[in-house]
Amino acid sequence: MRIDEVLAQNEQFLQENQPPVIGHAPRKQLAVVTCMDCRLVQMFETALGIQRGDVVEMRTAGATISIPEREGGANDLIRSLAGSIYLLGVREVMVIGHTQCGLAHANPTALIASMQALGVDPDTLIKRESLGDVNGLLQWVGAFNDVHLNVREVVNVIRNSPYLPKIPVHGLVIDIITGKLEVVDRAAA
Ligand SMILES: [Zn+2]
Repeated sequence: MRIDEVLAQNEQFLQENQPPVIGHAPRKQLAVVTCMDCRLVQMFETALGIQRGDVVEMRTAGATISIPEREGGANDLIRSLAGSIYLLGVREVMVIGHTQCGLAHANPTALIASMQALGVDPDTLIKRESLGDVNGLLQWVGAFNDVHLNVREVVNVIRNSPYLPKIPVHGLVIDIITGKLEVVDRAAA
């Protein structure tokens, strides 16, 4: 399994590296929320000019909060932002979606086929979570049609969350090919 490669690599890392001890409060007082996409690994930090210790990074599938979890703003992303703001000194948030996201235009037929192939019954899940139908299942996964619209919506959920203070929350989209950032919604200074 892959874990063996990772553990071997870790042994080598420990022999070759002695990382400096730094504090847990992000130097830039910034939280960045982005997607889990594998193409963002390393490229994301380089494209934003962020180093170890600079920011807190949060990743969710699609850099989104799924529609059923937006009500009241009490989902895990909001909880993480609350921790970063109240405990780690974050004072600014950037939500960064990306082009070619796997959660955009997710195919319901492929989703159901994949679940069934892996031994999970979509109908049982739809019933247990009161999702209604396959569209509810797509919402539960966090699928969306338009990355720009999704970023705007997530920004607004964060801005309006009763759990969070009024701090600047920006929305951006990063081009997964070039790394170029596009500002979709910039908070007032
Ligand atoms: Zn994505």
